[in-house]
Order: sequence, then C-alpha cells, then structure tokens
Amino acid sequence: MALGTPSTRTDRARTVRDLLANGTTHSFEFWAPKTEKGERNLWNALRRVEAVAPSFVSVTYGAGGSTRAGTVKATEQIAADTTLTPVAHLTAVGHSVAELRNMVGQFADAGIRNILALRGDPPGDPMGEWVSHPEGLDYAADLVRLIKEAGDFCVGVAAFPEMHPRSTDWDTDVRHFVDKCRAGADYAITQMFFDPENYLRLRDRVAAAGCETPIIPEVMPVTAVRQLDRLPQLSNAHFPPAVKERILAVKDDAAAVRSLGIEFATEFCARLLSEGVPGLHFITLNNSTATLEIYENLGLHPQS
Ligand code: FAD
Repeated sequence: MALGTPSTRTDRARTVRDLLANGTTHSFEFWAPKTEKGERNLWNALRRVEAVAPSFVSVTYGAGGSTRAGTVKATEQIAADTTLTPVAHLTAVGHSVAELRNMVGQFADAGIRNILALRGDPPGDPMGEWVSHPEGLDYAADLVRLIKEAGDFCVGVAAFPEMHPRSTDWDTDVRHFVDKCRAGADYAITQMFFDPENYLRLRDRVAAAGCETPIIPEVMPVTAVRQLDRLPQLSNAHFPPAVKERILAVKDDAAAVRSLGIEFATEFCARLLSEGVPGLHFITLNNSTATLEIYENLGLHPQS
C-alpha cells in the first residue's frame, strides 16, 4: 500500500491528538517481546489493561532498532485483535532515510496512525556521543518531518523534565524541544521522573517559549529496592531524598517496598492530575499489575 493511503483499519484508528482533545488520557507502555515467553507475558498484560479501556497503549522500539519487526508485529496485532489504540515508537538509530520511510510504510500498512518519533541513543552506550547513519537523520525533529510528509499520522515526541542528559543548558534543551513541536509534533510524553516539581518547571519553561504542545507525564512505579539505583542510571531521573529514605527503611521487606512504591506513585499521579496534566502514561515493564493498582487507587475511568 502506498504511504498515506488509508486502509479500512486506518480509517477506524483513533489518534492521540483527538483523544487529548476529548479529555485527560490514560495510557500504558509495553516493550516488543523477543521470545515466545515474552510474547505470552505481553499478551497477558495487554488483556488485563484492555479491561480498563485505556486511551492508548504504546510499544517501544528496541535500542538500536533491535525489535523493529517485533514493534510492527505487536502494534499490528493490537490494532487487529484488541479494542486498544496502539502507538508505535520509532527511532532513527542505524537507519537510512529510505529505511525509515519503509518502516513508516509498514506501520501504515499495519493500520497504525500513531507514531512516537525518537532520535534514539547511540548503540552500546546510551550516554555516548551521537553519530547519525551516513544516509540518516540527526535529530527527532527530522523524523517528525519525515513521518508527517509520509502521510496522515499523529506524531508524538519525547520531553525531559530533568533535561536531556546530553543537553548543556535549559535554554538550549527547551529550544530543541520546541523545534520538534514546530516540526509538527502533536504531543509529547516525558522521560520518567519522580518529583512532580520537575514536570511543572519544564511545562512552565515550554509555555514561556510560546509552545502549547500537550506534555503527558510518564509514570514509573518503584516496586523493588534495586530500582532505586537502576532507574536513575537508565533515565537520569532523581528520587526525592524523602521518598528514597522511606523505601530504604523497609528494604528487607519486598512486600512493604512494593506497597510504599504504589502509595508514592498514587500520590505522584494525584498531584499531577490536580495540576491539570493532559494525561498519564504508565510504564508497565510488560507486567501491568502495579500500574493497574495505581489506576484503581486513583479511581480512573475509561475515556468516553
Ligand atoms: P532529540 O529530540 O533529537 O534530542 C537529542 C539531543 O539532541 C538533546 O540533547 C537535544 O537537545 C539535542 N538536539 C536536538 N536538536 C538539535 C539540534 N538541531 N542541534 C543540536 N542539538 C540538538 N529509545 C529507544 O531506543 N526506543 C524507544 O522506544 C524509546 N522510547 C522513548 C519514549 C519516551 C517517552 C522517552 C522520553 C524516551 C524514549 N527513548 C526510546 C529514549 C530516547 O531515544 C533517548 O532519550 C534519546 O537520547 C533522545 O531522543 P529524542 O527523541 O528526545 O532526541
């Protein structure tokens, strides 16, 4: 099928842009599985999430494009076999422009209208120097333009409440974020963070730069003590010291750690909702139980 030619499924597919216009969105993030067991876990988690009728679900694009076929397959099956609206993540890592156009075409053929456009990280060393493919793209803004030119897609981008780790100062970071929005991004989803103030400061900075693109905060519940070290390494996000101390105080009791983590995440979401965020995007790690507990604690209901 030619790019941009709507299929029957595409006609029915909802866009995140329209969902945001209807009210606060509630969404869940999964990764594309690489094994049969992983695929079973994903589908068990998806079916549990389907029962609460979230606004959309997103499927990540493995580092360095490692799950490219898996992301297409998972999002295609979600579009075909569930009532969920899928968002496919896509990165520019290791792809020529021709390959990226081909990937976007595969998403269109699979009935996917929503793509989260990311630059990606250098393979092997996420904090390393970025080197683009010789026939590829330099930044996420270029990928937003490529996808928008390819067809009628709703495109999201990444935002960083604690600044992108490679950015040198806030002014430059915000300018580059606004560039992505002006390139055509319809909304943004943040990196994980644990202090609502960081989100609110980013939102103020972006608004002061004259940009009104909705920024959906990402929610990562801490359910195990090892995540206190692991998550900041993966994301550059910092825990408020008081939260870290309370979790460390019960570190030998796994059930107590999980229960505190869910309590903190519930308070975190409630604060963000009281600040009028456009949505909440929950990381599930392909195991939806903790996120669904938070969802229930918040009394969230399916979007009509
Ligand atoms: P960009 O917006 O291109 O920014 C990258 C850096 O370049 C920033 O420091 C920015 O300030 C700078 N920059 C931008 N434009 C310019 C310019 N014109 N000149 C100079 N500097 C510039 N990674 C994956 O591999 N797969 C995923 O599925 C995935 N999903 C994600 C989902 C979310 C919600 C988030 C927040 C991140 C995700 N990532 C994923 C990680 C992401 O790929 C990395 O954080 C990456 O380092 C940045 O991607 P970006 O799209 O923000 O890049």
